[in-house]
Amino acid sequence: LKDQLAANRDMPARTACGHDIELMANINNVQDAEAAAAMGAGGVGLYRTEYLYLTHENVPDETEQIGIYRNVIQSSPNRKVTIRTLDIGGDKTVAYLGHHHNEANPFMGWRSVRLSFEHPEFFMSQIRAILQSGAGIEGSEVRMLFPMITTVEELRKVRSFVRRAQRRLTEERKPFAEVKVGMMLEVPAAAIVIRAMLDLVDFVSIGSNDLVQYLMAADRDNPKVSSLCQPLAPAVVHTLNDVIRACNMARVPVTLCGEMAGQPRAFILLLGMGLRSFSMSPAFVPTIKQLASQITIERAETVLARALQMKTTNQVKRFLRMELEEIS
Ligand code: PEP
Ligand code: MG
Repeated sequence: LKDQLAANRDMPARTACGHDIELMANINNVQDAEAAAAMGAGGVGLYRTEYLYLTHENVPDETEQIGIYRNVIQSSPNRKVTIRTLDIGGDKTVAYLGHHHNEANPFMGWRSVRLSFEHPEFFMSQIRAILQSGAGIEGSEVRMLFPMITTVEELRKVRSFVRRAQRRLTEERKPFAEVKVGMMLEVPAAAIVIRAMLDLVDFVSIGSNDLVQYLMAADRDNPKVSSLCQPLAPAVVHTLNDVIRACNMARVPVTLCGEMAGQPRAFILLLGMGLRSFSMSPAFVPTIKQLASQITIERAETVLARALQMKTTNQVKRFLRMELEEIS
């Protein structure tokens, strides 16, 4: 089986009916970027930069960040990397940013962009570093991704930070690359008003890990409520279907970078919803590539239509398990 999966590395990411899809990797560091290339990923759909901060005792300065990001870009498949700004908080804390374990509800508290906005100097240095990181690297494609976006106002604020950074870099005559700006869709409020947000972004990346926990009000790391925290729960399936359709209608590129992208059963449903771009742990890329080559989009759409009629998570799971057995 291992040999078979290794052979999948060089095969194209394509459905049985000949549609190209994008299978990218989620990474935390340069070693993961190398693993992503080895597994045959088409790029990096999510680079979680918080690990850089978790492993430093002080805020890394702009130059240091540029160096680290450039290394990651050079090692990534196709030199294509989506760099996410700091997503600290929740379970991860960085004391030097004034963040401590002292909130009653850390996952609903001071995390991600909410924290970055209150550290404008730090936030600006990260945005400037991301903009500059791809400059001069032949064929590189860097995208910038903002986590935990909840409101339109936050998106406007983010865009204003990016514009200011670009203006200053131009004044300072520092080279920077064309960088697309995107949002993580991982808060239910954003899923509900996604149509009002699409004008403000170049792409959307669905963070299903958080979206599921917030939709189901069930902690993603608490085994006591894991029967609720399910990506195949009907409420989740309907929400994802709506968001993906809204993005496709508006022709805004959409990716899903939560763990479910690498789960065969979920993959079929997402394909049926019209999703064509997926980002997952590098290890899952070969399996999903194989599955894609065995399923047509028409079949995935039929499967989705039936799943959308189902009322319980168990029904959806059972049905998909049977479908998967038939396909592979
Ligand atoms: C997610 O929430 O699905 C996601 C990809 O981000 P993280 O797991 O880092 O919160
Ligand atoms: Mg998340």
